Amino acid sequence: MSDQAQIIDGKALSKVVREEVKARAEAFLAQHGRQPGLHVVLVGEDPASQVYVRNKERAAAQCGIAGEVHRMPADTSMETLLAKVAELNAAPGIDGILVQLPLPKHLDDQTVVDAIDPAKDVDGLHPVNAGLLVVGRPGLRPCTPSGCMRMLASVGTELKGKRAIVVGRSTLVGKPIGLMLLAEHATVTMAHSRTVDLAARVAESDIVIAAVGVPKLVKGEWIKPGAVVIDVGINRLEDGSLVGDVDYEAALPRASAITPVPGGVGPMTIAMLLSNTVDAAERRV
Ligand code: NAD
Repeated sequence: MSDQAQIIDGKALSKVVREEVKARAEAFLAQHGRQPGLHVVLVGEDPASQVYVRNKERAAAQCGIAGEVHRMPADTSMETLLAKVAELNAAPGIDGILVQLPLPKHLDDQTVVDAIDPAKDVDGLHPVNAGLLVVGRPGLRPCTPSGCMRMLASVGTELKGKRAIVVGRSTLVGKPIGLMLLAEHATVTMAHSRTVDLAARVAESDIVIAAVGVPKLVKGEWIKPGAVVIDVGINRLEDGSLVGDVDYEAALPRASAITPVPGGVGPMTIAMLLSNTVDAAERRV
């Protein structure tokens, strides 16, 4: 083991994934006479959501995916939004539908996600896709967890028989990562806010995934020497800087590989969304 962990560069790896997507999208176009199609629904004017959607739109275009954004006013009714989802479900040239979350307060996120055709659910959030993950069958997987798995693979992390801990059990991130690690034969501990003695649980783990949303919750001295650390957390401090859920500087000398924040898991999420879109297109034809 060297003195300092290998940095898992999410920017560089996301570029590799996007190149793969581009090649597959070109092959799809050549074979089927159209580009894979990704349609995004954005309700309201939330500034962060607008930035995310613009980034997705740009990344899709660069990869040869036909993207379109459906911008709807903040006071859109549930009925109108569900009618839009139904219209996109029925359109043959649309392979992926993404409704940007969170929706304005008067709209229920889950009801809208449930209305998306599971075959077009490129966010992997529909209960059918969640169920397919649980039973270990092919389906569209959530993007951030898929990005984490790709990052582990990129540094040749052995998962079979290894102890992995996932800190955070959200439906969006923690839970699906736990299931994906289990599918790769890791022995998985799911930790959360009620976990007793988190430090000891982390210290016995060969793979640490932090998806909590608490700055530097996971201390460097908790990390088992040689462990691989994936930090999903994105936390903005008062001084404007971004930090993860792991004390990165303190973990660096102990881990064998680690993702930085920013520039780690973040850039992988959009790349995996585009990858899911091509997957969905290939499965649908
Ligand atoms: P969430 O709030 O839905 O879930 C947080 C989880 O952490 C919960 O299961 C909770 O039980 C657990 N938790 C809270 N306090 C804890 C504690 N003290 N000890 C142990 N567990 C604790 O959050 P989320 O949507 O899963 O996101 C987690 C973090 O990941 C956030 O910082 C978010 O910004 C970030 N995130 C990043 C990406 C990306 O693309 N990189 C994508 C999604 C989320």
